[in-house]
Amino acid sequence: MSHFKKLAIAAALSVAFGTAAVASEVKWSYEGETGPEHWASLHENFASCAGDQQSPIDIQPSSVVDAELLPLEINWNESVDLHVANTGHGVQDNGADFGTATINGKPYTLKQFHFHHPSEHTIDGKHFPAEAHFVHQASDGSLAVIAVLLEGGGENTVFSDSLSNVTDTVGEDVMLGNEDPRDLLPDDLSFYTYRGSLTTPPCSEIVDWVIIKTPMEVSDKNIEAFAKLYSNDARPTQNLGRCYVLQ
Ligand SMILES: [Zn+2]
Repeated sequence: MSHFKKLAIAAALSVAFGTAAVASEVKWSYEGETGPEHWASLHENFASCAGDQQSPIDIQPSSVVDAELLPLEINWNESVDLHVANTGHGVQDNGADFGTATINGKPYTLKQFHFHHPSEHTIDGKHFPAEAHFVHQASDGSLAVIAVLLEGGGENTVFSDSLSNVTDTVGEDVMLGNEDPRDLLPDDLSFYTYRGSLTTPPCSEIVDWVIIKTPMEVSDKNIEAFAKLYSNDARPTQNLGRCYVLQ
């Protein structure tokens, strides 16, 4: 190998590995130069953010494909020792033992749930004031997220306790005590489903999305508290690309 070639390879390697920032330390946000339209170029690990199977999407009920879907089976624990945190990108509830769910016939464990303001998914172009994401992981590492759209109305205990206890300090964890996360689910679990991505960097296209059709009510007071903390932590809806929506 020529000396020149060796130098060229060394230079290429230093670009690839030597000076690259660690993806987890890359700052991203919901506006300006680190906002959603720039995510894909902020780090090489975020390239999927420009993919063609991205979430969230606008769901148009009139063009959803009817399919024989397996029913959702929720086996979440009814009493979970919850704590709430301001992640710097949203409000997240963590707990030790959430239980499981069977989604599209596959078993998953619930890992955490968090909220976005306003909703990320839209129905016929319409945003809801907020959206809950219940993040499930299967033993093979794949993810399924159950999304519940939240609208103004009566108070919801889990949402209310989360929003009235979360602090404006990023990373601070506040204990909520035992709560039943199923309080955020409607009785009717009919849903839309599609294959998409994480809605935050690195936007990995590994998520089976389940959007519950019936919204849940949360108080306007709690939505206002959320808006004070995060005026907008919703990624804009993405082109449908390779996604198609089933019900
Ligand atoms: Zn989310």
